[in-house]
Amino acid sequence: MAGNRIPVEMRGREVTYHGVRSRVGCIVDLRERKDAENRIRHLAQHDALTSLANRALFNEKLAALTRTGGPAGGKTALLLIDLDRFKNINDIHGHPAGDRVIQVSAKRLAELAPETSLPSRLGGDEFAILMPGLAFAAQAADLAFRIVSTLILPITLDDGTQVRVGASVGVSVAENQSSELERLVSRADTALYQAKHMGRNTYCLYEPGMDAQLEKRREIETDLAEALERGEFDLHFQPRISIAARRVVSYEALVRWRHPKKGLISPADFIPIAEQNGKIIAIGEWILREACLRVRSELGGARVSVNVSPVQFRQRNFVEAVEAAIVDTGIDPSMLELEITEGILIDDDKRAHRILTELKRLGVTVALDDFGTGYSSLGYLGRFPVDTIKIDRSFVRDMAKSDTAMAIVRAIAGLGSGLGMTIVAEGVETMEEARLLAHIGCREFQGFLFGRPTPVAAIPGIDHEAIASTLEECLAPALEEAA
Ligand code: C2E
Ligand code: CA
Ligand code: CA
Repeated sequence: MAGNRIPVEMRGREVTYHGVRSRVGCIVDLRERKDAENRIRHLAQHDALTSLANRALFNEKLAALTRTGGPAGGKTALLLIDLDRFKNINDIHGHPAGDRVIQVSAKRLAELAPETSLPSRLGGDEFAILMPGLAFAAQAADLAFRIVSTLILPITLDDGTQVRVGASVGVSVAENQSSELERLVSRADTALYQAKHMGRNTYCLYEPGMDAQLEKRREIETDLAEALERGEFDLHFQPRISIAARRVVSYEALVRWRHPKKGLISPADFIPIAEQNGKIIAIGEWILREACLRVRSELGGARVSVNVSPVQFRQRNFVEAVEAAIVDTGIDPSMLELEITEGILIDDDKRAHRILTELKRLGVTVALDDFGTGYSSLGYLGRFPVDTIKIDRSFVRDMAKSDTAMAIVRAIAGLGSGLGMTIVAEGVETMEEARLLAHIGCREFQGFLFGRPTPVAAIPGIDHEAIASTLEECLAPALEEAA
């Protein structure tokens, strides 16, 4: 064929033919052999399921780049990509479904990856894109953003079910020189870890200092493993005041971690880590039992409200765990309220509905915590058997100076009370706030104005008369108005 080169091999040797020594030669067409070799090389360097480069090829290219330092003056980016809920897909829908999700995700990655880059499957649900020849770091961030937005799109399985996985992406960018390129992987890894902890389905760019942050986090994680056995947790209780009853009607149990070296660690710092590594299940059960024990003896007849992490709620035997805590401690179930967040209802609304119904059957009540911060959709409120709405502190704080915050609180209070729910305002710090909140229909208050979270030993010292008179003072102008 004109213009095409054919790989050949020349062979020759001397032979004696009819007593005459002569040389014969032949030309061997190597096309078939080369094809086979190429196929074998491709197989050795690519992943069978997705046809992307495999870890061996990725490592080889990265090592070569690091050795040479890459083209001077340019940059190289590495994106590490991890599918978010992949294990669930395998567990719930089976391995063929898992394979399909990997294939579709790989195809999407290959389409997004620039021509000069190397999209690879490193194993399982881990992918990478090596991007040499970068002019600006922003190009890598832009690709990461597009990956996150694309991988969350639904994937249709063979049986027609649609699933969404989403991805976390860690990005690192290095100047083209060996000493920098060497750190590309560990930095992208750090950024990926960070992205996962930022709530998944997101990307994160490596920044200096991130390693130290991560180190701190890992330390907490290690210590957390033993904290429960060592008895380092404590519950504090914050009073909730009812306008109608003019007194403390319940307490919210708030966990505290007394770290032997680091002192008191805030739940905001360790609960997310405990959720990540699953420790929240055991810690949450301890909290529930401890709260039930306290309601029996120390809370003076008031109820107790316990925060439930979405991870606990999703546990298969969550309802049984609640029931066991009630039965074992012998409390009246109506003394217990569980605080859940809106996200639980959105994640899997059928299951959430079923669990909530079972909890109601046990006799406990349910509060929607931090209301307004999540999906802020009032539409679904009436569909779930929820007793209480806790309006998030941020609205209470902004209400006095922002008409929007005020309008939101008014709408939540109006709709919630219309549905027969108790409206609680969180984080009430001033009389002015309490006055406004009472005016627009909040029935209960919680906040520093009435009392901070208190250790059990200090509960008998709570000044209930002072609380009642603070409340009277807040309500007085409203009463005058009404008169
Ligand atoms: P949350 O459920 O919204 O709890 C209320 C938080 O607001 C508490 O912070 C409380 O101390 C604080 N707070 C109460 N009144 C005021 C106020 O007037 N002003 C201000 N500025 N803050 C106020 P805390 O105890 O640090 O807890 C933080 C978060 O950690 C909680 O937010 C909750 O999401 C989580 N948490 C706490 N205890 C537990 C628990 O036992 N289990 C689970 N799963 N999460 C918990
Ligand atoms: Ca709460
Ligand atoms: Ca809250």
